[in-house]
Amino acid sequence: MVSRVIPVEAFDLVIFGGTGDLARRKILPGLFRRFCAGQMPAESRIVGAARSQMDGAKYREFVAEAIAEFGGKVASDAEKLAAFLQQLDYVPIDARGVGGWEELADKVKGRKFVRAFYFSVAPGLFGDLAERLHHYGLSDKASRIVVEKPFGRDLATAQTLNASLAEHFNEDQIYRIDHYLGKETVQNLMAVRFGNMLFEPLWNSQYVDHIQITVAETVGVGTRGEYYDKSGAMRDMVQNHLMQLLCLIAMEPPAKFEPGAVRDEKLKVIRALDPVEPHHIVRGQYLSDDEDPSYREGVNDPRSKTESYVAMKVGISNWRWAGTPFYLRTGKKLAERASEITVVFKELNHSIFDDDEGGHRNVLSIRLQPNEGITLGVTIKEPGPGGMRLIDVPLDMSFAEALGDAGGDPPDAYERLIMDVIRGNQTLFMRGDEVEAAWEWTDPIINGWTERGDVPKSYESGSDGPGDAATMLARDGRSWRAIKT
Ligand code: NAP
Repeated sequence: MVSRVIPVEAFDLVIFGGTGDLARRKILPGLFRRFCAGQMPAESRIVGAARSQMDGAKYREFVAEAIAEFGGKVASDAEKLAAFLQQLDYVPIDARGVGGWEELADKVKGRKFVRAFYFSVAPGLFGDLAERLHHYGLSDKASRIVVEKPFGRDLATAQTLNASLAEHFNEDQIYRIDHYLGKETVQNLMAVRFGNMLFEPLWNSQYVDHIQITVAETVGVGTRGEYYDKSGAMRDMVQNHLMQLLCLIAMEPPAKFEPGAVRDEKLKVIRALDPVEPHHIVRGQYLSDDEDPSYREGVNDPRSKTESYVAMKVGISNWRWAGTPFYLRTGKKLAERASEITVVFKELNHSIFDDDEGGHRNVLSIRLQPNEGITLGVTIKEPGPGGMRLIDVPLDMSFAEALGDAGGDPPDAYERLIMDVIRGNQTLFMRGDEVEAAWEWTDPIINGWTERGDVPKSYESGSDGPGDAATMLARDGRSWRAIKT
């Protein structure tokens, strides 16, 4: 099946931080793939902006190299690449200075296209950029801004950040990106829930025993040790990515799939989250292995109390979910790189099969990476003449297999989200009040650790995390799904 490409109108996209890691690895290669898919009309223009002094020609060389490295299958199409590069330009600019701004304004003002400014820079510069865009007359209704995580490090900083953007831009001009929401499977989660009669009637505490959300990485902190140690798994992953997944799994059906309705429902979930008891959280730090130093060595602080792993039991106090725990976990240097949401349904309340030992449950697994897809575990009769013995088998839908391969690379989350910015569709972006509500729930947890002097448990690199996480579920008579790809 060849996926349908929906045209977008012409646009001007300015990438502040256009020479940075994110622009090089994700944004620019993603835009090239959209160009190849016919989603970048000829009048569109991409302007890189950063302090580095270079001209348009030099920037095009830089972008060509980035695409060669990270562009995927389409990167070898020299003709398309040359045409794409024609639409690129560069302006040296300091977010905190004055040089370059007039030039940028001249380049984009007066053009009647959608205008988007991607803030792919440190969050400390967001306020400066918003202020200067306004000063140079670039914050009018035609303009949209895209901001990257981390969106604050607690409620107070998130509020300050929101306020600094709100001074010059309306909420409907602000696109807070969480690339997890751009993943095919995450959007499919909503299609599965709200596009089928099958699941929604069972999607509540009467039928769902518990839900697990796992985001496991095999890498350590690498060269980001200093940054990561100020953040930790709770701020870096739970407050944003896992929280967003939790919202999509738990929210009520919105009346329409449109930004206001979807984001209202997500916000209600965050506001219904119970505070988390200290004994319902396990924190960990990985030990060294043959490849990498330990977490503490990696961040160069032998006494660091920052977690590289966190697991927790979360309750949602509303009619749908009271009594069904949500178990979340995320960590670095774990056994596999795997992100998965698993909905474990309750056991049958009565079995009619005498030969069967029972214990069967339907399990719906939504894999975000790798091998995006959905598996539904169902119970069937064991083949053969052995009587009515039951076995559990997976009904597996790998998206790559089910939807075929159109010959190119499947669109990356960033590509989808950038196209949504151009279309003006905010459904998959976080609203300011959502971000603040998420911090409001997260802050007491992190503050509690600091006040109690909580020290994370050590865990072996390449394992499933600290043993205490397994014990936490065992206390509830449950177990984690194995982390596997
Ligand atoms: P990076 O590699 O350090 O790049 C930062 C960019 O900002 C560079 O282009 C830099 O270029 C520019 N810059 C720095 N100071 C500037 C100033 N005063 N005025 C104008 N431009 C300035 O960072 P990154 O990894 O690309 O990350 C960018 C943002 O995305 C950060 O907020 C980060 O947290 C977020 N993010 C990144 C990733 C990722 O995978 N990299 C993932 C999620 C979120 P010059 O030095 O030439 O000015």
